[in-house]
Amino acid sequence: MSRANSRVDAVVIGGGVIGSSAAWRLAARGRSVVLLEQFEQGHRRGASHGSSRIYRQAYDGEFYTAFAASALPLWRQLQDATGHELLTLTGAVDHGSPATVLSRARVLDALRIDAEVLEPAAAEKRWPGIRFDTTVVHHPGAGRLHADRAVVALHRAAALEGADVRFCATVRELRRVAGCVEVITDSDVVRTGHVVIAAGAWSSRLLSEGGIAPVPDLPRLRTTQEQPAHFAPLAPDDWPSFVHHPGAGLVTEGIYGLGSDDGIKIGEHGTGPEVDPRTRTFAPDPDGVRRLVEYAETWLPGVDPGTVVADTCLYTTTPDSNFVIDRIGDVTVAAGFSGHGFKFAPAVGELVTGLVDGTAVSPDVFRVGARVGVVAR
Ligand SMILES: Cc1cc2nc3c(=O)[nH]c(=O)nc-3n(C[C@H](O)[C@H](O)[C@H](O)COP(=O)(O)OP(=O)(O)OC[C@H]3O[C@@H](n4cnc5c(N)ncnc54)[C@H](O)[C@@H]3O)c2cc1C
Repeated sequence: MSRANSRVDAVVIGGGVIGSSAAWRLAARGRSVVLLEQFEQGHRRGASHGSSRIYRQAYDGEFYTAFAASALPLWRQLQDATGHELLTLTGAVDHGSPATVLSRARVLDALRIDAEVLEPAAAEKRWPGIRFDTTVVHHPGAGRLHADRAVVALHRAAALEGADVRFCATVRELRRVAGCVEVITDSDVVRTGHVVIAAGAWSSRLLSEGGIAPVPDLPRLRTTQEQPAHFAPLAPDDWPSFVHHPGAGLVTEGIYGLGSDDGIKIGEHGTGPEVDPRTRTFAPDPDGVRRLVEYAETWLPGVDPGTVVADTCLYTTTPDSNFVIDRIGDVTVAAGFSGHGFKFAPAVGELVTGLVDGTAVSPDVFRVGARVGVVAR
């Protein structure tokens, strides 16, 4: 049965970390918002579930470093608003290829973000769980986001600001009628002036030709199933978040990792098979799991490699790994987070709010059409 809906300022489609952040920031700015999520709260079928995500500022260029830094006060604000610890500052280390690591050290220095370059032996003394490659940079203002908790906190913060947060509400159709958009789910019709599409791996279907809100010039959004794995730590040492870049001692794929409530998590970045989010099997790939066990045996003396537990999760990746955050008329798109979007989410929510309000313009690198080269690593 259809609920009676008056017209709201914005409907956000997608209750992952990005759509929930957009709903929170829009509602905090006084906009009337409905957030529609197709599955139940806490589902594990998208990209935002699990106990941990890296929050780091070290990137190859100033753009993403500054964008990550701009998210930090908002993560803190979310913690204060909901009373939960969502971000634990453990510091982060990048190690491996000297060119990559030192370039990040230079960017952090240029933006006056506290960081230090360390010898591998000094780093191993400090973090005995990790065997370090040739060159190491540490920045202490990084850490671990508690992902599941953060998404629930965003739903709660959005609702506290007045947003109407609905689960098990799949958007089937958008219909343009005199001066507004009707957003149609199986049980509701919500009338709005603006639609935000933050549907993760489902975005390309919604936005491509024949979808419910076709956007010309949308970069290809490729969905892959990735598989991180957790290992039991051998001692309760402090674990920083870490990224091991190939090019020095590591000849295979780069690896990221961090401590979490489920153990020490590691993963390759964007090596999984292309999948359709509606039909994927969720089964981990044995070769991928084997590679992570071999990595743990070689580089992580602080874990028990025999305790591996694999999980699966989706990446939605653009050709240049830059996000798509742009307004096209009465639709704003926030998609293509290319396996590194979680840390930025509240800052993305702010940008989306500015786009919806008409007070912000999208940086060129996030535009649907004319994208310019920033390296998203
Ligand atoms: C293994 C792994 C490790 C990662 N590690 C990091 C990290 O360390 N640091 C970092 O910053 N980022 C990391 N990321 C990336 C980050 O998690 C993602 O960029 C982010 O979660 C993307 O969020 P999203 O909201 O765009 O997508 P999702 O979380 O997938 O949310 C989209 C939502 O839209 C809903 N939806 C879709 N269609 C409809 C519809 N028609 N109607 C209603 N609802 C709909 C879906 O059900 C889904 O809940 C990692 C990702 C993975 C997979």
